[in-house]
Amino acid sequence: MYFRLSVKSIISRLTLTLLLSAVVGFFIGNTFLIVAISAVSLLIWHYHHLLKLIKWLWRSKTISPPVAKGIWGRIYDGLYRRTRKHRKKQKALNAKIRQFRDGAEALPDAALVLSDDLIIEWGNKKAQRLLGIRWPGDIGQRIDNLLRFPEFSQYIENGNFDIPCHIPSPINADLILELRLMAYGSEQVLFLARDVSKVHRLEEMRRDFVANVSHELKTPLTVVRGYVEMVQMTEHALDPYWQKVFNTMETQVSRMDRLVEQLLILSRVEINIDDDDKQLIDMPKLLHALVEDSHWLNQDKNHHITADIDEHLAIEGIDNEIKSACLNLISNAISYTQANGKIDISWQMDGNKAKFSVKDNGPGIRPENVNRLTERFFRVDKSRSRDTGGSGLGLAIVKHVLNHHHAELAINSQWGKGSEFIIYFEPNCIRPLP
Ligand code: ADP
Repeated sequence: MYFRLSVKSIISRLTLTLLLSAVVGFFIGNTFLIVAISAVSLLIWHYHHLLKLIKWLWRSKTISPPVAKGIWGRIYDGLYRRTRKHRKKQKALNAKIRQFRDGAEALPDAALVLSDDLIIEWGNKKAQRLLGIRWPGDIGQRIDNLLRFPEFSQYIENGNFDIPCHIPSPINADLILELRLMAYGSEQVLFLARDVSKVHRLEEMRRDFVANVSHELKTPLTVVRGYVEMVQMTEHALDPYWQKVFNTMETQVSRMDRLVEQLLILSRVEINIDDDDKQLIDMPKLLHALVEDSHWLNQDKNHHITADIDEHLAIEGIDNEIKSACLNLISNAISYTQANGKIDISWQMDGNKAKFSVKDNGPGIRPENVNRLTERFFRVDKSRSRDTGGSGLGLAIVKHVLNHHHAELAINSQWGKGSEFIIYFEPNCIRPLP
């Protein structure tokens, strides 16, 4: 039902009432008095309903408004309809919130809704069990006041929430939690914590297994290699068939030795997540030494190697890890570039980052393979890589070293034209040398 009240109808009703009073007053003989009495009665009637309305709005608990006739009845009806509509909407919203909360309770993860300044607004039961959040006592607290772990503080400070952060559970140190923060809506952040203890333990077991096996393989390999070399020293006494056999043995044992060595390096880099070993690395000195060594590696291929090194640019990091990463890139360029190629090594500032780059005019890499290069044991051309003594672990080592140093690897390559492998070091690890 729709009720319309126009100014015209108000004026006409008022005029009609006053006119009627005037006519009655005229017959009684006191027009003014009767008109005044009816005007005052009208006012009293309106004030009476105004008071009733205020009472109902502010004190009454029922949603049905007072009963009234005429215009005030219409007003009460309108208000009643509006309140009912509002209640219906509120019920629908409450049902939606309940659904969302039930959904969040059904999640296998601990879930918290935070404001954009990381204040806890709501959390599911799993959050109480995994994170020790008390309900409702901890509402209104900042999440980093309750999870006091340096890794988490650092994570919040860095503000890069694309990758998760790992911390032990505050109520059970045996549990490892993977934390993720996701902004949603305009001012809300969803905080998810998942128990990844099993995956973490499996990953640890895998690392330990690879490290132990590699370590155990080292001794028998050294013994076999020693014997093969001993026999080769008496090569002249062997007939050509056995000479070939022992040469092949020596090549294969050397390959295996290199593979085991690289597996050990990879395990060491993976296990070592401690930043305490970081120290000032005199990069110009380290790179000059590597360039010197590269000439020795380059004897067969005779590439033209140039080096453009900023003599005042150093970084803070782990010396042997950075050395291994740079050496890998240089030796790959030497190995994969056809003889008499051109290799440019450079160490310079690029914007606010320090940039180490190795550029070659070798065969290049097809775009579909570029993203897979840092996978363990990935080799573009297995037979060629085997000929160069490659194991497919070099760039995996580089990737882990760079992760450890919060540095980035960029690969620019054009199939048939050459490749450039670049390491970018963040400004916070750059140190100037005098
Ligand atoms: P490998 O021990 O086989 O060299 P890496 O992890 O160092 O293993 O490299 C992975 C693969 O990337 C190599 O097998 C090779 O196919 C390719 N690659 C690496 N560096 C270059 C380069 N400079 N030019 C062309 N291909 C390269």
